[in-house]
Amino acid sequence: MLYINGEWRKSNSGETLEVYNPATGELIDSVASGGREETREAIESAKEAFKTWKRETGQKRGKYLARVVAKMKDKADDIAKTITMEMGKPLPDAKREVGGAIAYLDWYAEEAKRIYGETIPASHPDKHLMLLREPVGVTAAITPWNFPASMITRKIGPALAAGCTVVLKPAPSTPLSAIKVFECFHEAGLPKGVANLVIGPAEEIGDEMTENPDVRKLTFTGSTNVGKLLLRKAANTVKKVSMELGGHAPLIIFDDADLDAAVQGVLVTKFKNSGQTCISTNRVYVAESIAEEFGGKLAEAAAKLKVGNGIEEGIDVGPLINSQALEKVESHVDDALRRNGKVLCGGRRSENTIGNFYEPTVINYAHDDMKISTEETFGPVAPIFTFKDETEIIERANHESYGLAAYCFTKDLGRGHRMMKELEYGIVGINDPAPIVPQAPFGGIKESGMGKEGGKSGLLEYLEEKFVSISTGN
Ligand code: NAP
Repeated sequence: MLYINGEWRKSNSGETLEVYNPATGELIDSVASGGREETREAIESAKEAFKTWKRETGQKRGKYLARVVAKMKDKADDIAKTITMEMGKPLPDAKREVGGAIAYLDWYAEEAKRIYGETIPASHPDKHLMLLREPVGVTAAITPWNFPASMITRKIGPALAAGCTVVLKPAPSTPLSAIKVFECFHEAGLPKGVANLVIGPAEEIGDEMTENPDVRKLTFTGSTNVGKLLLRKAANTVKKVSMELGGHAPLIIFDDADLDAAVQGVLVTKFKNSGQTCISTNRVYVAESIAEEFGGKLAEAAAKLKVGNGIEEGIDVGPLINSQALEKVESHVDDALRRNGKVLCGGRRSENTIGNFYEPTVINYAHDDMKISTEETFGPVAPIFTFKDETEIIERANHESYGLAAYCFTKDLGRGHRMMKELEYGIVGINDPAPIVPQAPFGGIKESGMGKEGGKSGLLEYLEEKFVSISTGN
């Protein structure tokens, strides 16, 4: 169903979209599929709602968000199950995602009442200078399938807290999670038109979102190529934009690192979500002197991960989202093997031939002319590269175009600090493979994006600054 102006409804054409389970290939459900017309209607309703929503106090907006939080907590298990069914991640990980999605909403429910302006020292005794922070306006949001609940709340939480109204387009492979999240908005009694959901063909919806002058803000999470396209389209009406795009994270292990912690670090950053995360490790760089030992330990641990349908108990690694994703992973592994890489574990599709499963894979002797060294694999493949010293690894770890996340394992505090400064990434985890919290900014530099989600920076994305100068003299 689409959710426009506070109502659940079908598309004008009656068209629907089918949703499949990537673990079984089975049809789960079909949902209404709208296009340009429905998107225009949703934008219109968001524009109308903005007139009153922007005037609500921060406290009141925060209270609405807190009610959504309560609804999401009630439905957490149901949302998690839906995530597992439509995108495949193991149920415990889906539950963690829902917890994260709620945490972002909860944080912004609080922040809604802390949107401050500033006074600015005047250069004349009879002047009073102020900076006001005001909501940008109608926001169009486009999200991917890999975190189908939390990607939504990370955008809608701060947008609504700031006083913006929203039209969301989720990925077509995961509309059911979006519908579940919107049920919480609906049941929380959010005023009609404040949050709208349009599901359907990307280009039609995207064109309306980018061309419609009533949309003042575009927030997108997805691939760098689509991000660039949307940036070009949004330029015609000079919209405020936030872009959370692709990544190619290095994970660097120095010879003084705690090897077991580093193995865990790779397991978490590479095999969770089957490697389909923008901050997934893509390159594991290991100091030459410990590379053989590390490779053995990692392969042993990766081989123990249980692959299967995430709805079953004890599963560590679920399926990839679709057959194209599976083919991309295969092409990266084939290329690595052609260029003398060696498989330490995995290296093939899983024996379960029904779903899109690929075995957790570790490849040794990776080098810089393999595809895997520059392109996002988006799958459970960890290539091990070696390095000699710090200067060399800083040069190689910094990617020509991506700059989202980087990780480093070392016990040397000074080295940790040097890496923190030298790594050209928006997020750096030093001995920490999970550097994501709602109160901190998340986002990339270079072609990994612009703007942040989370923290105070995430709220500023939905606020305009207005300068006011008052002459108090006669
Ligand atoms: P994608 O192909 O770029 O799609 C993302 C969203 O954009 C989907 O809803 C998609 O809908 C839509 N879209 C595609 N073309 C569009 C167009 N012309 N106009 C409007 N919308 C359009 O990315 P994906 O494969 O779903 O997601 C994986 C990518 O997202 C990876 O590169 C990953 O690194 C990145 N990502 C980044 C972050 C971050 O925070 N930086 C987080 C998660 C994922 P359709 O599917 O219908 O095309």
